[in-house]
Amino acid sequence: MSAPPFANEYALRMVAENDSKACNTCYKPTNTVLLSSNQKDFFYVCEQHLKDETFATAIQPEEYKELIKEKAKLTGDLAQWKYDMDKIKPYAWTKLVSNLSLSKEKDGKENEEYKELSIKIMANNERLNQLNEQIKNYKFKQYKLDKDIYKIRINNFIQMQVNKKRQQKIHSTNYFPSVPQNKIV
Ligand SMILES: [Zn+2]
Repeated sequence: MSAPPFANEYALRMVAENDSKACNTCYKPTNTVLLSSNQKDFFYVCEQHLKDETFATAIQPEEYKELIKEKAKLTGDLAQWKYDMDKIKPYAWTKLVSNLSLSKEKDGKENEEYKELSIKIMANNERLNQLNEQIKNYKFKQYKLDKDIYKIRINNFIQMQVNKKRQQKIHSTNYFPSVPQNKIV
């Protein structure tokens, strides 16, 4: 098999609102275009189809992967800190009721830890919210088409090339068939 005319790598481009055209799939007007990396193929795509994984998937850049990694780590840390805090909680609690069962030294230390953990959890919960927002609103710039959609793009492209060649041929030769030169009987 010869190399495909373009790779399955598309960049997201926006055209002016005035230049909006129908989504290639559902005909909803859109100003978003997917352009193949070698610029040989492009088509209009609506926001909904861009998010449809059976149509295309966003290629995750390093920056995005870092956000996901940070979120996973933070989620794990927060669970651990909450677990640690719950373990100390009874001591902090008991102090309020009575401090009979606790030595002064332990009591003070546990309370200090409890306070530190709760501050740490609060600050990091805020960071987690920030990360969630950033992930939710992340604007991807590169997409990969579903393999069947990609196949359709290639077939369309090849068909278009064939049509173009045919048109050129028609224009370069005499379009109207000439009257046969030989004697008509
Ligand atoms: Zn659409």
